This record gives sequence, structure tokens and C-alpha cells, in this order.
Amino acid sequence: MTKELDTIVIGGGLHGLSAALYLARAGRKVAILERSWVGRHSSGGTAAGVRTLNRDPAEIPISLEAMDMWHRIETIVGDDCGFHAHGQFEVAEFEHHFPELEERYAMTRAMGFENEELIGRDELRRLVPALAPHCVGAIIARQDGAADPHRTLQAFRRATEAAGVTIYEGAGVIAIEQVGIDWRVRTEQGNFVAPTIVNAAGAWADKIAAMVGDNVEVGHKASMMIVTERIAPLLKPVVGVVGRPLSFKQTHQGTLLIGGGLKGKADLEAQRTFVDFTQLARGARAATDLFPAVDKVRIVRTWAGMESSPKDELPVLCLSPNASGVVHSFGYSGHGFQLVPVCGAIVADLIMQGSTSRQISSFKIDRLYKN
Ligand SMILES: Cc1cc2nc3c(=O)[nH]c(=O)nc-3n(C[C@H](O)[C@H](O)[C@H](O)COP(=O)(O)OP(=O)(O)OC[C@H]3O[C@@H](n4cnc5c(N)ncnc54)[C@H](O)[C@@H]3O)c2cc1C
Repeated sequence: MTKELDTIVIGGGLHGLSAALYLARAGRKVAILERSWVGRHSSGGTAAGVRTLNRDPAEIPISLEAMDMWHRIETIVGDDCGFHAHGQFEVAEFEHHFPELEERYAMTRAMGFENEELIGRDELRRLVPALAPHCVGAIIARQDGAADPHRTLQAFRRATEAAGVTIYEGAGVIAIEQVGIDWRVRTEQGNFVAPTIVNAAGAWADKIAAMVGDNVEVGHKASMMIVTERIAPLLKPVVGVVGRPLSFKQTHQGTLLIGGGLKGKADLEAQRTFVDFTQLARGARAATDLFPAVDKVRIVRTWAGMESSPKDELPVLCLSPNASGVVHSFGYSGHGFQLVPVCGAIVADLIMQGSTSRQISSFKIDRLYKN
């Protein structure tokens, strides 16, 4: 049986859900085709940090818009997604790290961005008393924060289905063919036809891109996380540190979530990730150096999730130059959770108008074409 639609979204992660949501609310007949189940990969394993801090300058404009959206996320998906804005910090442990932060601060101010602020030792201690006293200062973004990943997934899924989107789980895309002005998408659950397609297939998005003639070189990364047993309230913001792989925060339940650049291994064919305990130990060491009080806290679980990651670690968010009606949305490189609400709106612009007023010129797919 062939299902006829306006837009087929490939990939049931948060970016696929967000794109489908905006398209359906604009009156489009949309289906999401997901090979496994919604949230199976990166979006189900995310740390859900909501961060404008320390972004590549090319991402800052859309990240700031996304941050405004997070502050009113309940009006968008009908749930607050567990979002709290307790700030994100990038700490300088030693004096020789501080100039890097001063430079970053000067650069963002010169570009006209005001979300980042430079603070010294006293303010840092006042805001994060649990931090080791040797730390000398930080750049911070006070409006940043973190959300609850599973509530976010559920909220986006509910909102998307309420807007009329049909989600097909267990519907892996096998092939895509052009049929007149339409695309026929072959899956394990039959064929789907639509004039427009959104490629939001995460770590496998290069395979989908190749099916429509965009042959790209995209790497991938397998970000890792540690979660600990519950402890008494210790800190509210999310804390990273210059020169070490660390993102450290405490959930409402009291567990500590430790990640931030810790990389495991991925087997894309088998759709599996593997935790690298040597790397993980570096993250745990950074955490106990910065927060000596957590020295004896027990690790409960570790995991890794994979997604595509171009060399420049910028997303691919654009119309295909080759394939009419195809929009790519992938390559979020371990920091795409925060961008979810705005990227859905951008994809909808691209599908419906063929352009967007948002600044996405650095996110074109042709920068990754194979020679
Ligand atoms: C451990 C970890 C921590 C992170 N922490 C943060 C953070 O603190 N802050 C932040 O901003 N970001 C963070 N991220 C990144 C963020 O989670 C991702 O950028 C985001 O979830 C990517 O969503 P996605 O929809 O693009 O990809 P995914 O969620 O991976 O979804 C892609 C989907 O496509 C499906 N698919 C693939 N091939 C096919 C096919 N052929 N047919 C049909 N379906 C297919 C897959 O099954 C998958 O479900 C983290 C990621 C990880 C793994």
C-alpha cells in the first residue's frame, strides 16, 4: 500500500519530531518514518543541556532564538520539558586558562552578542559554592540551563501527533526514487510518496543523503555519559571547564550527570555504541577535581549515543542543491538538543517557502561533498 503525503520526515529523533511539528501546524500532511523507535538514538541518550555558551559564532544567532523558545517551551509543546535556567558555566581552573575566556568574551561582545558574561573568583564562588576553591573565574550564560530529556521527547512526540503527524516506528528507509515531481520512499512497511522529504536520520543521514544524490563525507561521534547515585543538593548550574572534558550537573532527582566531550565508540552498521572506560575515567577525574565533595559518590550507569558530526562540528541544515524538495537536518555534533525548537521552524520554512530569514549560510551540505 502506498501512502500519499505532503512531506516525509526520515528519522524519529527530536529534530525529525520538531520539523514534523512545525510542518503539520502549517497544514501539511506529514509522516515520520523511524527505523527503530522514537528517541532510539541520540535524542534518547542526550544530556539535555540547553546551552548558548561557547557556541561556534555561526551557531549563535539560531541558538539565541532557540533559547527564547526554551523559555516559553510550554507554549510550543504543551509541557515545560523539565527546563530550568540555572545557567551554564565554563570555568578557568588556573590563571593561565583565564585569557582564553577573556578572548572569547571580547569576541562575542565585538560581534554584538550579550549572552555571555565574564566573572571572577568571588562571583564564581558565590554562584557555585561547591566548586573547588582553586578555580579563578568563568564565562557564564545566565539564561542557559538544562531540560529533562525524556519529558522533552514525550512532549515533542505528543505535540507532533496532536498536530496530525503519523509516526511509523520500525519503518527503516531502504531506498528513495524520484517519480515525476514526487519522491517514492521504500521502507520495511511499504512505500510512501510525497513531493518533499526531510532527512533527519542522525548518524545515518549521509546514507539518506546519498539516496538522493548528495554524496557527503560526514564523520560521527559517540558521546558518553555517567550518571551517579542520588546525593543531597550540590549545585544548580551546568559546569564545564577549560581544557578538560567535562559537563557537570545535578538533576532534580539528585543524581549527577557527567559528560561533555567524552567519546566512546560506535558501530554504525550494527547501530551500537560502546563505552570507553579509560576516557570515562578522565571525565570522572575532572568532576572530582572540580567538586571534591563528590569523590566517594557511586557511578550507577554509563552509556554512549551516536550522531553525525562533520569536521567543523556545524550542522547540515539546508535545501539539497541536487534533489528538489529535499531538506537536510543533521550533523548536530553532540550539541543539537538546544537547537531542536528553532531547527524545526527553519526546516518548515525551507520546505514551504524554499528559504528562511534565519542565518544558516554556514550549514550548507556542499561543504561536505566527496571529491
Ligand atoms: C550522550 C549525549 C549527550 C548529549 N548532550 C547534549 C547536551 O547536553 N546539549 C545538547 O544541545 N545536545 C546534546 N547532545 C546532542 C543531541 O542529543 C543531538 O544533537 C540530538 O538529539 C540529535 O537529534 P536527531 O534527531 O538529529 O538525531 P537522533 O536522535 O539520532 O535521531 C535520528 C533517527 O533517525 C533514525 N534513522 C536512521 N536511519 C534511518 C533510516 N534509514 N530510516 C528511518 N529512520 C532512520 C534513527 O533510528 C534515529 O532514531 C548529546 C548527545 C549525546 C549522545
